[in-house]
Amino acid sequence: MAKKQFKAESKRLLELMINSIYTNKEIFLRELISNASDALDKRHYLSLTDHDHKVAKKDLTITIVRDQENRQLTIEDTGIGMTAEEMEKNLGTIARSGSAEFVSQLEKDSKNIDIIGQFGVGFYSAFMVAKKITVESRSALSDKGFRWVSSGQDGYTISEIDRDTVGTRIILDLKDDTDDEKYSDFLQEYKIRDLVKKYSDYVRYPINMEVTKSIPDPTDEKATIDTKETETLNSMIPLWKKNKSKITDEEYNEFYKTKFSDWEDPAKVIHYNIEGNISYTALMYIPSKAPSDFWYQTYESGLQLYTKGVFIMDKAKDLLPDHFRFVRGLIDSDDLNLNISREILQQDRQVRALAKSVEKKIQNALEDMLKNEREKYEKFFDEFGLNLKYGIYKDFGLHKDQLQDLLLFRTESEGKYVTLKEYVENMKDDQKVIYYACGKSLDDIRNLPALEKIRDKGYEVLCFLHDIDEFCIQMMRDYDGKQFQSITTADLDLDSDEEKKAKEEKTEENKDMLVAMKEALGDQVKEVRISSRLKDDPVCIVAAEGPSLDMERYMANEPNNMLGNIKANKILEINPDHAIFGKLQEVYREHPEELNDYADVLFQQALLIQGLPIEDPVAYTKKITEMMIRTK
Ligand code: ADP
Repeated sequence: MAKKQFKAESKRLLELMINSIYTNKEIFLRELISNASDALDKRHYLSLTDHDHKVAKKDLTITIVRDQENRQLTIEDTGIGMTAEEMEKNLGTIARSGSAEFVSQLEKDSKNIDIIGQFGVGFYSAFMVAKKITVESRSALSDKGFRWVSSGQDGYTISEIDRDTVGTRIILDLKDDTDDEKYSDFLQEYKIRDLVKKYSDYVRYPINMEVTKSIPDPTDEKATIDTKETETLNSMIPLWKKNKSKITDEEYNEFYKTKFSDWEDPAKVIHYNIEGNISYTALMYIPSKAPSDFWYQTYESGLQLYTKGVFIMDKAKDLLPDHFRFVRGLIDSDDLNLNISREILQQDRQVRALAKSVEKKIQNALEDMLKNEREKYEKFFDEFGLNLKYGIYKDFGLHKDQLQDLLLFRTESEGKYVTLKEYVENMKDDQKVIYYACGKSLDDIRNLPALEKIRDKGYEVLCFLHDIDEFCIQMMRDYDGKQFQSITTADLDLDSDEEKKAKEEKTEENKDMLVAMKEALGDQVKEVRISSRLKDDPVCIVAAEGPSLDMERYMANEPNNMLGNIKANKILEINPDHAIFGKLQEVYREHPEELNDYADVLFQQALLIQGLPIEDPVAYTKKITEMMIRTK
């Protein structure tokens, strides 16, 4: 029989498993039982929704068989089973999302073998203890059975077999014992019993095993006799149905990591039970880290849905609003129809009520974390804050009231995170608006010329470090009645009467020069004017009404921008107290023909400081060189 090869990534994972020196090899059992439980979920659901595939609940089981003589451990389930194609697809390739990332992590940091245990590595983990794995299976939807056999790296074979029952049997030929490693322990009754209790107690199907019991010998009072009987090793109470006070953090975390294929403990657990119009139990988690594909279109969010303890679907999107799509978890409700499908889900009144309630609970959990676990919340925000901002921007700001107090922004002064509420509370008495500045980093923002005056006044500025930030606050319009204002808007209105007067006089005195400069720059600017916001910098650009400078920058960088060439109405401001101003006056007086070049270079400089592209860098540098040559 021709051997087939594993797909590249699977092969690497396999190698890691075969040569694993990981000390907790026992987790393989958890992984195999978890797969069996999933398969039983699927069969149960099929049975309840399709008359042709009825199966009694009591027949949905997992059986563990220990064969000490042949060093074989078998895990058998009466679940959905696999066809030959499914074996090929599921066992020849890494199926689990995140596995690929796991492999690359492990390769980068091969000493960090601990992550094997933290991360469910699925079926392949069995190669940590087995030198050969045989999978015999028949799908509920097929009348043929198949056998998949592999001894590891050299590939696998699939062949047809006779099999009358639906389900899957996984036979592990355990590795030979070594001085350090006693694989035969996994054939001991106590060992398997312990492992099932430890990792799989809450599996909702019976995990049966034949055990030896000593009973009193009826013929001899002092003696006992050993009998064999089948025992269910697990308590079968799902974790989420257990009393909250009886669940340890460890159990919550362990459950999360196995169930949702993450290798980090979650940041927060949300577990509750609601009785009312719609009764349900929720066990939800806020992950510590965004999954690697979280920001891609292909990422599927949603909660697992159970009805009366029956698994219905994996990623019920309609139970989770988009702005909280980072939450993973499950809902178990007795009030939903078993036949509920993805399509019906959306329209169902009960489901909408449920989703509302779930949303409220997540909201409360986040607010609570922000209030009581600030450091944790900031970490969460680093990971998922962007998603909350998108949530505000989406649907024309429909969710702004709900989400705005969950936002954090860095302050210009100290660079620490503040909420909008905290910002407003700390506003100066004479401060009317919320100031913000956009930039790629705090340093970029701190270098903005337009900042000087505001800083002088002692006003705090919020740093907008993401493109979405400005779009987001445009949706909000204001916060607590306070408008948002970019520090690069034309009308900051910060001058005292005295300053205003001085500025007017300066403007009047230099009117002709300013007009000449404006003419030199043509359509590029709306106006050239005297600045009252600059202290040390020579010039800056501000935007009159219309799109802001940062919108222009954003649009210019957007490859698929549908809105065309959005331009801000730019105003070039000149610092009248800067040496360059005297120079401009001199040039205008003595060599007016050179003013054009000065205006141009200063304008381009202002663009650069603002992080805006200049149209013709070659012409700009040429001009500067010429001016340097001219300078005596
Ligand atoms: P994961 O369980 O995370 O998807 P695994 O590598 O453990 O990854 O399993 C790969 C796939 O093989 C599963 O998704 C499932 O489709 C299939 N599979 C594994 N074990 C069984 C089983 N006992 N019964 C039916 N299908 C199974």
